[in-house]
Amino acid sequence: MYVQPGIVRGVTSMDDQTALTFADVLTAGEIVAGEVAATPLVDHPLLDRVVGTEVLVKHEHVLPTGSFKVRGGVHLAARLTDAERASGLVTCSTGNHAQSVAYAARLAGCHATVVMPSCAPQVKRDAVVALGATVVSHGESLGEAAAHARVLATGPATPSYVDTTDPRIVLGHATAYLELFRQAPDLVAVYVPIGSGTGAVGACLARDALAPGCRVIGVQSSAAPAAWRSWRSGRIESVASATRASGLATSSGYPATLPYLRAGLDDFVLVSDDAIDRAARLLASHAGTLAEGAGAAALAGLLAADSPTGRVAVMCTGGNASADEIARLAAA
Ligand SMILES: *Cc1c(COP(=O)(O)O)cnc(C)c1O
Repeated sequence: MYVQPGIVRGVTSMDDQTALTFADVLTAGEIVAGEVAATPLVDHPLLDRVVGTEVLVKHEHVLPTGSFKVRGGVHLAARLTDAERASGLVTCSTGNHAQSVAYAARLAGCHATVVMPSCAPQVKRDAVVALGATVVSHGESLGEAAAHARVLATGPATPSYVDTTDPRIVLGHATAYLELFRQAPDLVAVYVPIGSGTGAVGACLARDALAPGCRVIGVQSSAAPAAWRSWRSGRIESVASATRASGLATSSGYPATLPYLRAGLDDFVLVSDDAIDRAARLLASHAGTLAEGAGAAALAGLLAADSPTGRVAVMCTGGNASADEIARLAAA
């Protein structure tokens, strides 16, 4: 399925797999649409006034599991090999990918184990268990959790390791942008939060085919800038994460997404955790939306732009706000 050359600007191959194509995204779109409804793309006039241009919020937090990541899980579930189904799955996550893989396992009728680092919030751990998966707590960072997940997948009769940047997951995530550009083909820009970059790769794949004039702008927390640094240098950079936004708490760049981000992103901006909190408050007060930090980061990126003009979309990628996040929203 991944045999045609890539259509993302300038990308023809990746390290260990052939390039993803828009045809793959269309197929994933049919699979995902069979399981979850399209998410609303909403203009909030109060928010427009604050930002100074027309802002469309893509409300991905209304999906099952509360984030866009379920799209990756739904597509993965449809694409599991017989061996994966039989062995069950193991992965690592700070929370939303965890819920997505737990959801996928439930759909596919197999078992999932998720290794979660100490920075993963309780609400996300509880949600994974509620979906019927097993949570293993290990390490302080996502990198440490990933290493342990690979250990759990080593040897006979162990579950199959699912990488967070597995192509089946990237293609599932791309369906958010398939919807977005079908709903609004005339956008001048879309702001996309970045942790590992799977969502942003999907944005670039769909943009190139459906809305070539739309700028794709990545946003990351300045307290977890590994993907940003990797994008700038073109090499995989590791930087410890200290962000409060668990969905963005990656500590290194990702080989599977970096070439696409380098070729496809028009810009990549850093915002502070405090700016993310301000954006989350604005989503609550001006858009009736409870977002987690990672889900508010795109709006924070837009707010940091000089006098934006034209129709702009921000991806509200997730609503699984932790107790701390909800308390901070109310505190200001
Ligand atoms: C995972 C996640 C992100 C970052 O997505 P990547 O594909 O890892 O770049 C953004 N927002 C939320 C809510 C997430 O769960």
